[in-house]
Amino acid sequence: MTDIIQLLPDNIANQIAAGEVIQRPGSAVKELLENAVDAGADEIKLIINDAGKSLVQVIDNGRGMSSTDARMAFERHATSKIRNIDDLFKIKTMGFRGEALASIAAVAQVELKTKREEDESGTYIEIENSKVVIQEPIAANKGTSIAMKNLFFNVPARRNFLKSNTAELRHIVEEFTRVAMAFPDIFFSLQSNGQEVFHLEKGSLKQRIVQILGNNYNAKLVSVQEQTDYLNIMGFVGKPETAKKTRGDQYIFVNNRFIKSAYLNHAIMNAFSDLISKDSYPMYALFIDLDPAQLDINVHPTKQEIKFEDDKIVYAFVQAAVKHALAQFSITPTLDFDLDPTIERLDAVSKPVSAEQKSSTTSSSLYQAFSQKNQAHLIERDSNLQHWKDFYESPNKPQQQGGSGHDKQILHQPADTLFPLLQLHQTYIVKQRSNGFVLIHQQNAHERILYEKYAHAVAGKPIATQQSLFPTTLELSATDAVLLSELLSDMKELGYQLEHFGQHTFVIQGTPADVDTGNEKAAIEKMLEQYKHFSSEIKFSKREKLLRSMAAQHAIKPGASLTQKEMQNIADELFLCETPNSTPGGKPTFMNFDKSEMDKMFGR
Ligand code: ADP
Ligand code: MG
Repeated sequence: MTDIIQLLPDNIANQIAAGEVIQRPGSAVKELLENAVDAGADEIKLIINDAGKSLVQVIDNGRGMSSTDARMAFERHATSKIRNIDDLFKIKTMGFRGEALASIAAVAQVELKTKREEDESGTYIEIENSKVVIQEPIAANKGTSIAMKNLFFNVPARRNFLKSNTAELRHIVEEFTRVAMAFPDIFFSLQSNGQEVFHLEKGSLKQRIVQILGNNYNAKLVSVQEQTDYLNIMGFVGKPETAKKTRGDQYIFVNNRFIKSAYLNHAIMNAFSDLISKDSYPMYALFIDLDPAQLDINVHPTKQEIKFEDDKIVYAFVQAAVKHALAQFSITPTLDFDLDPTIERLDAVSKPVSAEQKSSTTSSSLYQAFSQKNQAHLIERDSNLQHWKDFYESPNKPQQQGGSGHDKQILHQPADTLFPLLQLHQTYIVKQRSNGFVLIHQQNAHERILYEKYAHAVAGKPIATQQSLFPTTLELSATDAVLLSELLSDMKELGYQLEHFGQHTFVIQGTPADVDTGNEKAAIEKMLEQYKHFSSEIKFSKREKLLRSMAAQHAIKPGASLTQKEMQNIADELFLCETPNSTPGGKPTFMNFDKSEMDKMFGR
């Protein structure tokens, strides 16, 4: 019998290890930008081609590397940032594992150019399959440029897993934004396929937020600032009126590192709870600073999830700080704005924390309340959904009885049109028919009608465009501009005539006839919001998301009073739809009330 265990060759071991750190172009962007920040640069440029699939390049003016270090940097576990295990608990840099460059070199072709201030000449290195193929001196400015070319050229299976350019570009912009937001005193730019998408001059955090998230946050940011011995919080939250239907503009940083934390998000949402509706998301960019010894950032290879030594204290803090800020700025004086006295009195908030205080607060009833509240919140939501589902799917409801054809027949009898229609609560349309009545939800019904109309439009029957007399310009945040330019051609079929005009600006030349003049801009902005809302639903294609967004956005909303003719149109068109029963998202559009059943209920 021969022995069968072998050591993997280095380049294969590196390729496997790389899978943890470099999953897509966006992960390389994050690692390279963080290295540039760690190198003390105050000017960092990111260049992308083909959504990072063919090129991701980061150029910085940081301290550079010696020629030996330049070569060492690509070895696995090669780092200048920690020396021993104790250092791990004092980390002030973004990197520390020494894995990023080794991983990148294992799955792409790399070109490095670097020079330190004190050196005569710089170093040029080319690496492929983790092997140095060229190393030579080169004339260069102080700083480092690392170009990663043809990601996964040697791992086709992983290359095939990359998503569309739109999706990968979105990841890149997301990573870029997270780093740029955390370092407003560093200049950042992002160039994609030769076009400059971001140009972020050095400035205050507030300026940086507005540069990245868009001008509509100007004068709409509330400053959050609390300092104690245990931790500091600073940053901004958006005024409640800026809350959006999507979660996008939410950032939490711990020691300047972007993190994902559903737990802290919940703390912030709680602080906002009376000020915004349940299904909307406030903007926030909050920076929590605390002793690195109170953290474990080593729990996740990309370092996006961290463990706090005491997360309940951090929760209470964050919530109190946001509540304070909102109350102080007294945004909506008419609303009941009581600060939670339990939180205000909490030692963690008012005093520095000692070990004993920490343990006593942790066991206090406040924390029980936190977790109970959390549960109540979840149950509430679930049962709500359940309710709708029951309503819709209940076997007693006529929708169940037949397919759409059947409904069309029973509902759309010519005699029906003789009865006038009735609007209730500016939300429902009541349509009488010979054997009962139908209750139509005006928004849901209209959403279904528009959805089918748009679906036909992109299937080859374009919707007529109404040319604008005075073309309006639309200035978007860089992220939204990237998104919109990807949607332009489909939107054209839907009646929108838009032209890219400079960096983040578009000119609206025409809109579908049903968009009121003067409203073009808002209509497109809201459509993009809706689109992002659907973006988490990976099962939908880009086009499907666009159709759904447009339908949701253009549908008549509750609160609009309708004329006989408008009600008639909705009722008529609904039952001509292929699937009249529900919105594209599955909400019922109408309920059937059978006269004989009602008679029975009344004992007749
Ligand atoms: P880590 O950042 O965890 O140390 P990396 O693989 O990202 O590991 O980088 C390895 C080392 O290469 C770093 O510790 C640093 O010394 C050096 N390095 C990487 N990028 C740069 C840069 N842009 N400028 C100067 N030094 C760099
Ligand atoms: Mg690094």
